[in-house]
Amino acid sequence: MTITGGCHCGACRYTLALGALPKAYACHCRTCQTWSGSAFSEQVLVMESAIAVTGPVVDYVFQSPSGSQSHQRMCGVCHVRLYNTNTMRAGIAVVRAGSLDRSDELDVPLHIWVKRKQPWVRLPEGAESYEEAAPPEAIVRLFSR
Ligand SMILES: [Zn+2]
Ligand SMILES: [Zn+2]
Repeated sequence: MTITGGCHCGACRYTLALGALPKAYACHCRTCQTWSGSAFSEQVLVMESAIAVTGPVVDYVFQSPSGSQSHQRMCGVCHVRLYNTNTMRAGIAVVRAGSLDRSDELDVPLHIWVKRKQPWVRLPEGAESYEEAAPPEAIVRLFSR
């Protein structure tokens, strides 16, 4: 099975070589609010090797304060961000979950940086949440859910 997604204008399309729709997490940090222009970001973690993209993808690189390089892949036409990678976590890609064709079916069991969440956002009952970044075991759990 492949999972598909793409940008707003349709110039960029991607497939994820996965057996099922991955579980998503929401990040409520200020940076994600700025990046998304919204209340939080919704993302899925996949191996970068599982992504195949077609179209005019642009790589916006910036140096993070910790010294690693973040590569933000976006459509060169409509500038929608599709996924990003970081030299600190080689081989792992963070896909913008709203760009998935089946985003309406996503399950979001994990919320991070909730100390920065907008006050009107209510987390679902039973959601796993962290004031700041999630510990590694929470990420492992996300993969296995
Ligand atoms: Zn586009
Ligand atoms: Zn964030």
